[in-house]
Amino acid sequence: MKRLAVLVFVLLLAPLHGGAQEAKSLPLADERYKADILLVAAHPDDEGAATPYLARALDGGKRVAVAFGTRGSSGANEAGAEQAAALGAIREIEARHALAMLGITNVWFLGGKDTASQDVLQSLANWEHGAALEQLVRLVRLTRPEVVLTFLPGTFIGEDHGDHQAAGVLATEAFDLAGDPSVFPEQIAAPMRRLEPFLENLRPWQCKKIYYFPDASNDEMFRGKGPEYSVKDISKSAKQAYWRLALESFRAHQTQAKSYLDSLSKLSEAELEKKAVSDGWGDAQRFVLGKSLVGGTVTADVFENVKPGEIGFVRPNVSPEPAPPEVSVALAGPWSFYDEFRRAHGLTLWHPEPPELALQAGTSLVIPLWLRNEAAVAREIILTADLPAGWKLTSGTGKFVVAAKQVTAARVEIDLPALEEAAHGKQESREVTVRGESNGQSVGIVKLRVELRKRALPE
Ligand SMILES: [Zn+2]
Repeated sequence: MKRLAVLVFVLLLAPLHGGAQEAKSLPLADERYKADILLVAAHPDDEGAATPYLARALDGGKRVAVAFGTRGSSGANEAGAEQAAALGAIREIEARHALAMLGITNVWFLGGKDTASQDVLQSLANWEHGAALEQLVRLVRLTRPEVVLTFLPGTFIGEDHGDHQAAGVLATEAFDLAGDPSVFPEQIAAPMRRLEPFLENLRPWQCKKIYYFPDASNDEMFRGKGPEYSVKDISKSAKQAYWRLALESFRAHQTQAKSYLDSLSKLSEAELEKKAVSDGWGDAQRFVLGKSLVGGTVTADVFENVKPGEIGFVRPNVSPEPAPPEVSVALAGPWSFYDEFRRAHGLTLWHPEPPELALQAGTSLVIPLWLRNEAAVAREIILTADLPAGWKLTSGTGKFVVAAKQVTAARVEIDLPALEEAAHGKQESREVTVRGESNGQSVGIVKLRVELRKRALPE
């Protein structure tokens, strides 16, 4: 009421102009939400993969915003009775507390649901890919980050959670789309008339760099593919090592790690340091450069060449589709998606060859395949498989007739043995080979390197 009275008063005082219209400055974007770094993570606690670096960046005066894919409503609750959506409501607060401890308060959730598998396509489906992407593009335009940090989209031996990969996929898509004014144009349109309350008045925004952090067990393979930061350096503002600040922040995640955190609280400072280092808190922070639109060197600082101010929209450099052979057998599922994804986003991301994954011993492996026939006549394809000793083929090999100009999906299924004694929770990776043959000629060799573990997310 009071505000309305002031407005009426201002209007009464406004001078009346005749002729030329006086230029009136338009409202600008809200600076409180401007970020230098946007971290795109999947679950509450995933921010821990980057908090030592974020603490360092905050020390250097950088502004950080965070988007989580899900609220983390699945999994066990170590701190109380709450489960499912109620647990998600708690974990949202835990994530906010963890980040607030570092000084980060601009935190959003995309509304996806936890998906327990290693298949990024399952996670994208369960997150409602389109809606999640629309929200992430909105957040990029709102926070106008210079740099995006996120999980490495790809399949690796490790936890390699599909949700983590989905965060990396969405972040890459948003990186390439937020600067394009033809994408979600309703976010960019400004209301001009009454009853246009749906238009958002954001501006397109082109981020300058994207870096990934891997979800693979062995991150040595990413050495030299991006900058690396020691977590043992001492924060100028907090006078503590960055790993220590990251651990303090992690203490907010009681529902996920209460027993672990309680065990730490009983230790002396020296014991704590020893334990934390052996638990991985002392590992260097390693990033993989996805792309830079401002040049620079692969292993240099994240902010090398990043200068304040806008750069124009840069359409991704799509590499041409390789010409398909007349008849072929190729890996399908997430692997063929990632081939397309890297091509569509102009990414030259290194990925393991042959492709690899970790699976739970005693479960099964499904190898999804595309059988392609570009010929003008039907062709017969024969599939055979070479398996390690003790692995049992259950279905999917034999003869297939693929009609002219058709693509057929096939799947080879293999029962995996129990873990060998003395394997200590995991077994050296083994190679599986599927061969395709047509008219006595090889039309494709598909290899997968598989590590058996005591526990792993479903394929
Ligand atoms: Zn996670």
